[in-house]
Amino acid sequence: MTTALITGIAGQDGALLAAALRRDGVRVVGTVRPGEPHEAFQGAYLPHVPIYEVDVSDAAGMRALLEREQPDEIYNLAAISSVGVSWSRPLQVAQVNGVAVLSLLQTLVELEQADGYRPALCQASSGEMFGTPGRLPLDESCPLAPQNPYAVAKVFAHHSATTYRQAYGVRVSNVVLFNHESPLRPASFVTRKITAGVAAIAQGRSDVLELGRLDIERDWGAAVDYVAGMRLALAAPEPGDYVLATGRPTKLADFVAMAFAAAGIEDAGRYLRSNPAFFRPTDIPSLYGDPTRAETELGWRRTQDLPQVVAAMVEADLRRLRTGVENDPALLA
Ligand code: NAP
Repeated sequence: MTTALITGIAGQDGALLAAALRRDGVRVVGTVRPGEPHEAFQGAYLPHVPIYEVDVSDAAGMRALLEREQPDEIYNLAAISSVGVSWSRPLQVAQVNGVAVLSLLQTLVELEQADGYRPALCQASSGEMFGTPGRLPLDESCPLAPQNPYAVAKVFAHHSATTYRQAYGVRVSNVVLFNHESPLRPASFVTRKITAGVAAIAQGRSDVLELGRLDIERDWGAAVDYVAGMRLALAAPEPGDYVLATGRPTKLADFVAMAFAAAGIEDAGRYLRSNPAFFRPTDIPSLYGDPTRAETELGWRRTQDLPQVVAAMVEADLRRLRTGVENDPALLA
């Protein structure tokens, strides 16, 4: 039986990926940050999954886990995944999102040299690595010019992976992920803030949705499709770098409009406020990717469009307000 290790399993992608792997008969084990309470999340979305409390930047702990479980597949999703948070904790972000990946790669080289253990690794890179693009859409050949501490650390990890692939033959693919969403998105992200805020307005519990810049464009897809892309990238006969994106820019204002429409609210402008306090030190105006390589080489296909994703998120937030239950296993379906 194939065993997959997912680091950072108690996140949006970790839960969705674990569910998809388990549906296909893969044994899944995962890691969470030590001392972080994720019981409710794990109980709902990761039942029967062995979970280890190992910090991804703890090289000895990660090595011991690999020696014990000998996973065939490793998905490195553990990260401080918020660009906003990266401005307040840049050193920790460099350690967790960047240096920890180099350490994992080095451990894999040492384990192969010791006993021939040679798993496949999928590293979660990010479209944020491109910074303000010289050309759009962004593909695997575009230069990386990061503009925030999150992206700087992801670039370090990305280049570490390609270096170890070339130098040591480590079976590692980078998936360059553009934004992807689901009802499992943590509340700290702007997309979920929007869907939760709109749900609260729809139920008469709030009368304002305060956001930062509404004119930025991002490339939002469905998280279930992106975790499927991770599996394809990991299984590619020749590991490589793959952009996973929809190829379409959407303004944040349009995302907001989709959310209000999904909740059946027509006069959205009445509830919207732009607050400069939510502006970031550097907000990249437009980012969208070109998934042609993933589509042609991996056969990657997307199954949901953005209005569907936003509607599912609003629906989930409406249900959460009605039931008081944040983590509902039905959201994995
Ligand atoms: P997420 O929901 O934030 O999940 C990341 C998980 O990593 C969290 O559960 C987090 O735990 C955990 N983690 C943080 N620091 C850790 C550490 N030191 N050791 C072990 N685990 C740690 O993020 P996601 O949306 O699932 O994204 C998965 C990966 O894809 C991340 O690497 C992210 O940067 C990347 N990515 C995502 C997107 C996107 O749109 N979702 C786009 C580009 C790239 P805590 O909750 O305890 O912090």
